[in-house]
Amino acid sequence: MSETFPSATTRPDSAIIRERQRLSFDLDADICVVGAGVAGLTVALEAARLGASVAVLEGRHVGWGASGHQLGTVMPGYNLPIGDLIARVGFEDAREIWALSRQGAEYVRSNATEQLIPGIALSEGVLEVSNVDAGDQLISRLQMLSEDFETEVEGWQVERVRDEVRTGHYFHGVYYPRAFQIDGRKYVHGLAALARRAGARIFEDTPVVSIDSSGVRKRIVTPSARLRASHVVLAGNVHLGAPLQRLSETLLPVWRYATVTAPLGERLKEAIRFQGSVMDSDGVDHFRIVNGDRLMWASPETTWAARPQRFAGAIARRIRTIFPDLGDVEIAEVFGGATGQTVHGMPQIGQLRRGLWVTSGFGRQGLNTSAMSGQLIVRSILVGDDRWRLFSPFELVWAGGPTGRIAGQLVGLWGRGASAAAGALARYRERARAQDDIRDARRLKANLQAGTRPQTRRPPAGAERGKNEGV
Ligand SMILES: Cc1cc2nc3c(=O)[nH]c(=O)nc-3n(C[C@H](O)[C@H](O)[C@H](O)COP(=O)(O)OP(=O)(O)OC[C@H]3O[C@@H](n4cnc5c(N)ncnc54)[C@H](O)[C@@H]3O)c2cc1C
Repeated sequence: MSETFPSATTRPDSAIIRERQRLSFDLDADICVVGAGVAGLTVALEAARLGASVAVLEGRHVGWGASGHQLGTVMPGYNLPIGDLIARVGFEDAREIWALSRQGAEYVRSNATEQLIPGIALSEGVLEVSNVDAGDQLISRLQMLSEDFETEVEGWQVERVRDEVRTGHYFHGVYYPRAFQIDGRKYVHGLAALARRAGARIFEDTPVVSIDSSGVRKRIVTPSARLRASHVVLAGNVHLGAPLQRLSETLLPVWRYATVTAPLGERLKEAIRFQGSVMDSDGVDHFRIVNGDRLMWASPETTWAARPQRFAGAIARRIRTIFPDLGDVEIAEVFGGATGQTVHGMPQIGQLRRGLWVTSGFGRQGLNTSAMSGQLIVRSILVGDDRWRLFSPFELVWAGGPTGRIAGQLVGLWGRGASAAAGALARYRERARAQDDIRDARRLKANLQAGTRPQTRRPPAGAERGKNEGV
């Protein structure tokens, strides 16, 4: 089944156009969810499936935020690297938290079937590639993932990576055969349809302006009506604003931009044989082929909202840098969305006070993590499963307001610069090694011809210097 990507920025998908319903009358529910992105809709779907009465209040429309503007790659894990996770919570809890992230991915898979969400176009396999030549690090990472964290992974040597993704920019790779990709936009609208079918009510154009969470029954105020609920789940990402400004300030908004190219024909097959998502280990580039011969590519980030169209040229140039053989590519669509980054890199999952919950801060990896979070919260509310407490070590930390945004942008730029420099250095070393090999081969041939004893590889410069200094 092929994927279709109408402009994710402005043009609505005709399959998705529906009459929006606004909340214009007072209502009572068991659970009120604020925000209709993947995070809020998973809560709504799961709670409705378990028989609760649910109302979702969305300020704009379903999928208006990052959830309607993402690449649809679903894999285990979090924004926070696994080593940092272990350092933070210890090995055993890290294992459990990681296992939950895997279950989140499997939850998305269980919804993302053609029967439940027609046109979802699930395809298997994700490749994480390294910008630097770090084979030994890769081996320890592979061991940790497969042996300690029970995640199916394969290590790919440089040659295999470059056979599938034909660029000299990438070295080794970690292939996740059980990770997958879907039409991300269809997923968020599909979740809304499933939640409605299960009995949840979704009200759009209904911003929540304040919440009184002090009593047993919480009071939620919107411009034209009020709602009362025993539980409120805040799933507003960086956009939450007035209802709990302090919570919004614990997220650093990072806008990420992406494009879909015009059809690239045969030259795309020459450049990229791999059919799944590819992402580099520094989190700079993330791309995959869609609709057979188009390239969907996410790359630049800002800590302020900008028109996505501004980044079309930058992404086209980035594609050309990585795949020079593709030549000039025409950009057909540009889109972007705000991800919420926490200071510690882990999502915000838990109960702020009795009956007031948060599911947010999923950063760049929101599909598996929001799915897991939604299930944990609903299971705590309805069946008393308290595993969400595993996330308690990751408290709400103020993200630094406007100063934090500037710092975040600088750190991001520095990270990208450092990653580009490390990549360039790795490619330089690789070229130097290749030249050394050619020189060694020539020397060997000359030695053989001259009948002298061959020296297979020159000693490193430092060793030569040491030898000379010792004389
Ligand atoms: C370009 C890009 C590519 C990405 N690719 C991937 C990917 O391949 N895989 C992956 O796992 N993740 C990806 N992500 C990250 C992922 O999209 C996000 O982590 C995820 O969508 C966040 O979902 P959310 O529901 O928390 O937030 P959002 O989607 O932002 O939803 C929040 C909703 O809450 C509403 N809201 C906020 N405040 C209020 C209020 N007061 N009243 C009523 N409604 C309110 C907003 O209008 C909004 O609709 C990508 C993100 C971007 C931008």
